[in-house]
Amino acid sequence: MALYCENCMKMIENTVCPECERMGREPRDMDEVFLAERGHPWSDMLCDVLRQEGIPSLRRGSLGAGMMMTIGHFLDLESVYVNYCHLEKAREIYDSLFGAGEMLSGEDADDEME
Ligand SMILES: [Zn+2]
Repeated sequence: MALYCENCMKMIENTVCPECERMGREPRDMDEVFLAERGHPWSDMLCDVLRQEGIPSLRRGSLGAGMMMTIGHFLDLESVYVNYCHLEKAREIYDSLFGAGEMLSGEDADDEME
């Protein structure tokens, strides 16, 4: 079973997070888990579809709001988070929108044990 890193807000495969080396813990339903990082307008689209499915999402831009307006949207990547209880459904939605595999390769390989 995957654990949750509170610091990185990601699911991790090991007991220790590969990015920050903190101990993971068991995920709780309301934990905010990283789903994907996307630029506009894809992050808008993703969040819209999630909302239609009844999944609240959180977004954190890599740049501040002021920067977004001056630089424009091209450089602005947004990280999208969902609560752990919605993660599986959100990933399905993400895959159906953007295709499976792209964001799930590597660290987030699809080999969770049921
Ligand atoms: Zn971490």
